[in-house]
Amino acid sequence: MRATERPRGSLPDARAPSATSGRAAARPTRALRGTLTWQVATVGQLIDETPAVRTIELQVPDWAGHRAGQHLDVRLTAEDGYTAERSYSIASAPGEPVAITVERLEDGEVSPYLTEELRVGDDLELRGPIGGYFVWDGQHDIGPLLLVAGGSGVVPLRSILRHRQRTGSTVPTRLLYSSRSLPDVIYRAELDRDNGGGVEVIYTLTRVQPPGWTGHSGRVGSAMLAEVAWPAGQDPLAFVCGPTPFVEAVAEALVGLGYPPQRVKTERFGATGTGVAGES
Ligand SMILES: Cc1cc2nc3c(=O)[nH]c(=O)nc-3n(C[C@H](O)[C@H](O)[C@H](O)COP(=O)(O)OP(=O)(O)OC[C@H]3O[C@@H](n4cnc5c(N)ncnc54)[C@H](O)[C@@H]3O)c2cc1C
Repeated sequence: MRATERPRGSLPDARAPSATSGRAAARPTRALRGTLTWQVATVGQLIDETPAVRTIELQVPDWAGHRAGQHLDVRLTAEDGYTAERSYSIASAPGEPVAITVERLEDGEVSPYLTEELRVGDDLELRGPIGGYFVWDGQHDIGPLLLVAGGSGVVPLRSILRHRQRTGSTVPTRLLYSSRSLPDVIYRAELDRDNGGGVEVIYTLTRVQPPGWTGHSGRVGSAMLAEVAWPAGQDPLAFVCGPTPFVEAVAEALVGLGYPPQRVKTERFGATGTGVAGES
């Protein structure tokens, strides 16, 4: 991104953020080690997951390693010093190159830049990994795993699924993933490959179902969870991620089905919006 360009959004030019790229103006004044210290990463690969969603693989020289489910912060800096920071879940498994997957919000400040303007070779400021609660380390002493995602909330759950596979875990796992339509399903080819062999992938489509669709339709609620979720008596561990209203509704429903609250780990992707992050 050239310094004169700016991401789409409502900010005036002078306040538009940019990556700290060789093609951009700002650079951090320091890049110290440590998860809460900003450091410079380089974009290694860009993968279009859906028309609105892009995975950004990053080369991070001082990366300390991460756990499945953690996130990182990205900071964009404008020429006048204005900065915009956003959190992104880490999409890759521990041991894999750091990757994030970003869904473009048309009226957003940062996500349009990350999904449309960023190029391979650009530098990006980030800090992380962050978070010690919404993580799965491959515990084998627990019941089955229930993963529930709304829209881009599937990102940290994909890290968990990849970690499960890489560590040879056999913990029975179900992913219930809510998307607007089949083309909005992120990582679809990978998830379809994963389906079977101890992992069940269950989609629900909230807005558009293709002809002949025999899967679930509509929002995730108590009735759907009663059908899909592991019975509480099996001592399942649940990870729920997505837009705030989605996460709250799902967590409440799981507790209503007898899941102890401490067995329902939640990650809210923020904002008050409904449907913006891919779940209707
Ligand atoms: C821990 C954590 C992990 C996250 N991981 C991811 C991830 O893996 N992938 C990803 O795409 N996003 C993720 N997010 C959301 C991300 O941080 C940004 O909020 C998102 O990219 C929008 O930023 P923006 O600057 O484009 O939009 P903004 O300029 O911040 O907002 C634009 C508009 O959209 C609304 N809005 C913002 N975010 C959301 C949202 N999540 N849901 C509904 N409405 C919203 C705002 O209210 C506003 O109206 C995560 C958030 C958190 C807290």
